[in-house]
Amino acid sequence: VKKIGKPERAVVTTCAYCGVGCTFRAEMRGEQLVRMVPYKDGKANRGHSCVKGRFAWGYANHQDRITRPMVRDNIDQPWREVSWEEALSFSANKLNQIKRDHGARALGGITSSRCTNEETFLVQKLIRGGFGSNNVDTCARVCHSPTGYGLKTTFGTSAGTQDFDSVEDSDVILVIGANPTDGHPVFGSRMKQRLRQGAKLIVIDPRRIDLVKSPHIKAAHHLPLQPGTNVALLTAMAHVIVSEGLADEEFIRTRCDWDEYQDWARFVSQDKNSPEVLEGVTRVPAQSVREAARLYATGGNGAIYYGLGVTEHSQGSSTVMAIANLAMVTGNIGRKGVGVNPLRGQNNVQGACDMGSFPHELPGYRHISDADTRALFEKDWGVTLDPDPGFRINNMLDAAVDGEFRAIYIQGEDILQSDPNTQHVAAGLEAMELVIVHDLFLNETANYAHVFLPGSTFLEKNGTFTNAERRIQPVRKVMEPANGMEDWEVTQALANALGLGWSYTHPSEILDEIARLTPSFAGVSWDRLEREDSLQWPVNEEFPDGAPVMHVDGFVRGKGKFVVTDYVPTDEKTGPRFPLLLTTGRILSQYNVGAQTRRTANVEWHPEDLLEMHPSDAENRGLNDGDWTTLKSRTGETTLRVKVTDRVAPGVVYTTFHHPATQANVVTTDFSDWATNCPEYKVTAVQVMPSNGP
Ligand code: SF4
Repeated sequence: VKKIGKPERAVVTTCAYCGVGCTFRAEMRGEQLVRMVPYKDGKANRGHSCVKGRFAWGYANHQDRITRPMVRDNIDQPWREVSWEEALSFSANKLNQIKRDHGARALGGITSSRCTNEETFLVQKLIRGGFGSNNVDTCARVCHSPTGYGLKTTFGTSAGTQDFDSVEDSDVILVIGANPTDGHPVFGSRMKQRLRQGAKLIVIDPRRIDLVKSPHIKAAHHLPLQPGTNVALLTAMAHVIVSEGLADEEFIRTRCDWDEYQDWARFVSQDKNSPEVLEGVTRVPAQSVREAARLYATGGNGAIYYGLGVTEHSQGSSTVMAIANLAMVTGNIGRKGVGVNPLRGQNNVQGACDMGSFPHELPGYRHISDADTRALFEKDWGVTLDPDPGFRINNMLDAAVDGEFRAIYIQGEDILQSDPNTQHVAAGLEAMELVIVHDLFLNETANYAHVFLPGSTFLEKNGTFTNAERRIQPVRKVMEPANGMEDWEVTQALANALGLGWSYTHPSEILDEIARLTPSFAGVSWDRLEREDSLQWPVNEEFPDGAPVMHVDGFVRGKGKFVVTDYVPTDEKTGPRFPLLLTTGRILSQYNVGAQTRRTANVEWHPEDLLEMHPSDAENRGLNDGDWTTLKSRTGETTLRVKVTDRVAPGVVYTTFHHPATQANVVTTDFSDWATNCPEYKVTAVQVMPSNGP
């Protein structure tokens, strides 16, 4: 054990892992980080933290960090370390040549939900204003893009309705497709605190997550539905609420479109949508659905929290709208203790979406086809913008295979490991003439890159993150970047190599530009954040101090919109060759593809991805706990060890996706959400057979 000594100074900054957004005092001795201490005045965490934020920062100084730019002419060659000037001019020359030969639409990029708002804003500005296309997307595409679509359609804005404090006023907490104690531990603890005080809990999840039964907590209802049947289950609950006269008609008449409500009520009241009929689809006993629906509708303040178990389905956007319908029909919106709350997986996924990372939207969720909005940005940036939406990530990869898309700039994302159907991602990347990866480590995607631009950690930069409750918080530089540049400076240098002439000297200037161009950020500034620690958007003339709870007097879109969400089964079917359904998730001590957590001591807690399987399915295959298995789908196969447990129902298996050795996404499919193309990670038909190991 190396003795470090007492800290000499501390910097308050924001965690770079999940969307809870805990703040910490980073305690330093000289240029060395001694420890991360949860900040007692942190609005999101109030002095609490989880193991990742507190201890998993060793990756910042890990020997795998790449701190010098590298280039190579083709991916079969070894990397060559070069100066920043050479890497940037190599990139700019290639980008210019591809644009000349194939047009602006052959270029694009991906922003990172782990980078700051300012960095994300600059990447989309570079792509729109410099590359000349709207081919910009973000990792939210593969997680919460249905939240954006669903909540914007029903409520008028693509964000959660409540602050975290709101849970203290909840009487009934409905958790669907989320595992807060692993995925969002600090908020999960607050939820548990409220449950211990007597709030009732409904869990809708194929797996028996910890919340269902833990010390002093027992869910009133756990509805272990068949993966892929969320819409059917939520429709059955709505059927009970409407047919038993439990709808809050006064709320609906005053706050929602009454005609649309009536259409929706007629739809959910049909016999085909009763819990008894839909039991054949969801496999949840009708009586349990009836009781859960009654509890949510009549138990007082009802709050819904959801995660990727809602969004990552072929009906992800429909499920988000079905949740919004439930909240509106019961009047559970617009005050403390209620609402619809997406739990955001990554530290700044809310911010990445807010900052215009989608191919059809400029910052502030304004459509690229809107001439007035475009004119605002064109005047400010001195460019002409393409009025047509660009490619989504999956479209970029498809177009690359077809020869139409040729160059990509990827900041802080490892799409080869995180996106579905790994083989297709590899084919798309391999077909491109130029892949620029801007990251901390040589990740899996970098195997297909021609330029590697070293990135900076959250400890090495200034800027802001926006958490799951729309809270904008400062990220403050704790130490100098190992590579000599913060990520926003790298993007600026690339822009200037293309001749754009940017001259930002601090992220506060980028934040000023964001505020100037984005109405919901109009009142946000670095100075104000320094004084007030955080602000919850919208911060504007109407809400000068921000808005902890949204849609209080009216929905952002005016009247709340009920949307008919008919259950449509996924095309991913089980059958004799693939009789089991695989669903995926995360574990507390690891984070996403594990680039950071695998490079800390946390890895000892979860050194490999395991396949959870019900004892009856294991017995049928002659498998014992710890045995190696081959997990095979129509897309591909991988090898991992089995964990025999009754947490999952017979017919369902579950794994995490943290380790490249497993590459769980080699088995996931190309099916995706009908509205947003968010991949259907949560439903894959598989077979599991004994194996001798990798
Ligand atoms: Fe970081 Fe999330 Fe853990 Fe808080 S709960 S310390 S934000 S990973």
